Amino acid sequence: MKAPLPLEDLRAIVAGPVLGTSDGGFAEEVSAFNRAFIRTPDVAVGATSEADVVEAVRFAAAHNLRVRMQATGHGAESAITDGLLITTQRLYALSVDGGSRIARIGAGVRWGSVLTAAEPLGLTAITGASGNVGAIGYTLGGGVGPLSRSHGVSSDYARGFRLVTADGSIVTADAEENSDLFWALRGGKGGFGVVTEMQFELVPLTALYAGSIFFDTPHIETVLRSWIDWSASADATVTTSFAIMRLPDFDAIPQPLRGRTVLNLRFAYPGGETEGKRLATPLRELAPAIIDTIGVLPASQVGTIHNDLTEPGPGWVTGGLLNDLDQDFATELLATVGPDQQVPFIVVEIRQLGGRTFVDVPEGSAVGGRASGYTLSLVGVPNPDLFAQVLPAVANQVMSAIAPWISPETTINFAGDGSDAEQFGKAWPSAISERLSSLRMQWDPTGLFAYGPPAG
Ligand SMILES: Cc1cc2nc3c(=O)[nH]c(=O)nc-3n(C[C@H](O)[C@H](O)[C@H](O)COP(=O)(O)OP(=O)(O)OC[C@H]3O[C@@H](n4cnc5c(N)ncnc54)[C@H](O)[C@@H]3O)c2cc1C
Repeated sequence: MKAPLPLEDLRAIVAGPVLGTSDGGFAEEVSAFNRAFIRTPDVAVGATSEADVVEAVRFAAAHNLRVRMQATGHGAESAITDGLLITTQRLYALSVDGGSRIARIGAGVRWGSVLTAAEPLGLTAITGASGNVGAIGYTLGGGVGPLSRSHGVSSDYARGFRLVTADGSIVTADAEENSDLFWALRGGKGGFGVVTEMQFELVPLTALYAGSIFFDTPHIETVLRSWIDWSASADATVTTSFAIMRLPDFDAIPQPLRGRTVLNLRFAYPGGETEGKRLATPLRELAPAIIDTIGVLPASQVGTIHNDLTEPGPGWVTGGLLNDLDQDFATELLATVGPDQQVPFIVVEIRQLGGRTFVDVPEGSAVGGRASGYTLSLVGVPNPDLFAQVLPAVANQVMSAIAPWISPETTINFAGDGSDAEQFGKAWPSAISERLSSLRMQWDPTGLFAYGPPAG
């Protein structure tokens, strides 16, 4: 039986809510975008300022509680049953300086808000596929998005962080100050502290030629095989991906797609219509489309290219990175997750990397998988009864079939459950992993911040 925590002491010095498991509002405070996993930390602190974060961290250290943080819960991939959870959604400060093109982004800010704030200045942020994801949690893991080939991974644009470290200090990490920590926070993800603000460089870009094409079941094999060949010499300014989607027969799904297995081919070119059309033509000619949304798109609408779900619900995803693909890979993939197979995945997605993702920032960063050519994600049907056994078992079968093409290292945002030792171990090349471990020891010697597989 755990001794009761003196939460009144914390309430006296923190402006935001301090909630024990039996307090009203606790379940709402800890709830995540991914609803699959139990969330019963000993205490939840809804930070309203950096000072609240400092007090929460000091309280946790004094009472031997491990600390976790949550902005949106998009990365909630395992249960939380102890410790102190700092929720950051109230840290929504956001400002954009048009002159320096730097956005100052608070810990609770989602990408969609950054895109909206940048747009009137003719600027945009290099984000992930969904505007709903938290800007800081995503960028700490590198971040691969719809403009990755033309612009690189998102953490390449991080210019500095403020964070609260394990001893409750407020620390700046940028190219000049604590540059080792800055290196780690660009792709090394967790175990260093609670980031309260990120400085992020925006790019001058107002419009894309972008969107997606849906191909019906009979065309999936042709499109998939042709895309693999096309991608081998694709223009480095174009970022594309495909997803085999098994869509339910729901009213929310557009009529021609409802209840069908389709291939969704995504395309993004950060330039004008004439050149964009020329670059998209070979993909448009692969097969007749059910829907084709590719056209001129405001840069702030980048999230409509993938159209990820925005409603919270139970989620299960695993993945990794792939090396060069060929027709033998296509054969194995179709034999395991193609439209004729009965598999419990609603989405099987492959994104092409390359171009700027191959190139690290001049000063170096902790992003894993720079040399890989493609990402792979398997998204399970949203039935939590299948999460523990069935989905991992079927995913393992798929991974075995395509083993020759799997890159030995991945990147943490695509590694699936970061508390899984095997996935975590592959998330960075060994030299990066070792440097990250030693920096975690330096900044958090007692392991206050719970991150990665459970110890022991
Ligand atoms: C629908 C969906 C779409 C996605 N699309 C992409 C994509 O296109 N590209 C891509 O690379 N990834 C993508 N991801 C993965 C996503 O980037 C990670 O799950 C990311 O961790 C989410 O961050 P969050 O803050 O929104 O989530 P949360 O669950 O709130 O946080 C996840 C983790 O981020 C860290 N974190 C969050 N806030 C802080 C903070 N203030 N200080 C320190 N650490 C913090 C913590 O380790 C935390 O456990 C997607 C995920 C989903 C569910």
